[in-house]
Amino acid sequence: MSEIVLETKGLTKYYGGKLALDHLDLQIPRGSICGFLGRNGAGKTTAIKMMLGLLHPTAGSAALLGCDSAALTPAVRQRIGYVTEGHRLFRWMSIAKLERFQRAFFPEQWDDRFFGDMIEYFELSTKQKIKHLSNGQRAQVSLALALAPNPELLIMDDPTLGLDAAIRRQFLEGMIELITRQGRTVLFSSHILADVERVADRVVVVDRGRLRADCPLEAFRASVRKVIAKFSDTAPSEAQIEGLLHCRHSKKQLEMTLVDVGDAEVAEWARQTGAEHYEFVEMNLEDQFIEFTAPPNHRRLFQWEEVE
Ligand code: ATP
Repeated sequence: MSEIVLETKGLTKYYGGKLALDHLDLQIPRGSICGFLGRNGAGKTTAIKMMLGLLHPTAGSAALLGCDSAALTPAVRQRIGYVTEGHRLFRWMSIAKLERFQRAFFPEQWDDRFFGDMIEYFELSTKQKIKHLSNGQRAQVSLALALAPNPELLIMDDPTLGLDAAIRRQFLEGMIELITRQGRTVLFSSHILADVERVADRVVVVDRGRLRADCPLEAFRASVRKVIAKFSDTAPSEAQIEGLLHCRHSKKQLEMTLVDVGDAEVAEWARQTGAEHYEFVEMNLEDQFIEFTAPPNHRRLFQWEEVE
């Protein structure tokens, strides 16, 4: 079994009376590129801050590289990179000044050349002040600062927020190549599921503070499926099949989202219910994520009168 470099046990956070994270148990093996997924307010930032020892858990614990997050030593911190949500950087500093400031925390392993190459690649100048950069450019500086110390474990909270599509793609692919070549581990939250699908090999899904999945990407891709069944007569108003997540019903059709249900079980269900025809619908990771995290009685945001 591979070494676990990020672990949480029963990690829980209440903000006042509000439960933001509920007993999160995670084990991320070394070498993973893990997409940390969840809808707005699911608890990702809260979990990440507790992993890094920046926020006290109400209960439970986290450990990075075998060291308790509540007591990360300077030596362990030097092996960890962190990109915050919103890229909070000292606005009055120039990029060069910020680099010197950050380098002081990583005297042994700071890679000047790599930092310089990234700044050049992003077409920035080290003389530029942070306050004069666009949001996307601040994100670029923040990524360069996080990667320059060549961290063994890189934790990023929505790192590509604000980057344009081309830079986002180039950055993610370049970074992933670099990280995997060196056997590094990455956990990154993102709402851009196409990015996650392209680069991650593992996914963690949190939903309203609760862990819903922690598995290889391929396992998640294989387990969430959609089936459309057609009936010659009226379709049953609901489906009885184990693993059913959601069911949408129209006059002669049932649309079912299933988790961990095999082909044979679907075939048997179709036979028993007398479906005339059924088919599996192709889904990308975004489709699967939306279905997987949709609340049971999902309402549409906009509702128009149907036109006859
Ligand atoms: P997003 O994708 O929108 O960034 P997230 O998954 O990172 O969301 P969190 O920021 O961890 O979610 O928030 C989880 C829940 O905790 C939300 O309901 C949020 O309103 C609440 N919350 C977060 N920070 C605080 C705080 N400082 N005080 C009170 N409630 C908070």
